[in-house]
Amino acid sequence: MGRNPKTETGLRRAVFLDRDGVINDTVDRGENVFVQDKKVRWTAPWRHDEFHCKDGVAVALEEFGKLGFLKILVTNQPDVVYGNMSQLEYDKIMADIKELSLDDIFVCMHGRDDGCECKKPKPGMLISAAQKWGIDLKKSFMVGDSESDIKASQAAGCKTILIDCAQNKNLKADARVTNLSEAVRYIHENIY
Ligand SMILES: [Mg+2]
Repeated sequence: MGRNPKTETGLRRAVFLDRDGVINDTVDRGENVFVQDKKVRWTAPWRHDEFHCKDGVAVALEEFGKLGFLKILVTNQPDVVYGNMSQLEYDKIMADIKELSLDDIFVCMHGRDDGCECKKPKPGMLISAAQKWGIDLKKSFMVGDSESDIKASQAAGCKTILIDCAQNKNLKADARVTNLSEAVRYIHENIY
């Protein structure tokens, strides 16, 4: 049995989770790869055989559930639109993601210039999830690894936990942890 999942507002708490760099490892493309004229180094997996779930993720998701949190994936996945990967490889990766004990999955497949409301750093996916599930965003957390995760989380009113990596040393969040198990510990100690 977990804690009372409802806050005093009668709404639920959620942990929003980014995918790449949080659930699974990112992939090093080296020095000379460009996407949409922007140099990229660490990217999402573009093939199913590049997809590797990080250690301890399944257990951490269970723990979030026991703490009374909904576990909701909110991920930008523009690589099919950008032509970096096929829909088939994307679907194979997401089939593995769907095996995890997530309560819901929100994906923005749009490109940078599509002008959508869902692509992080906009908070659209978090707000949609809050409406669908009755979530108190001010009592919820976002776990991410990039500036767009932090901005989306802040815009939605959530607390932000950053998974530490070499590319995000300059970013500030409410907490910095090395993995999802540590995020569980932090949230357990900082439920508000
Ligand atoms: Mg990420």
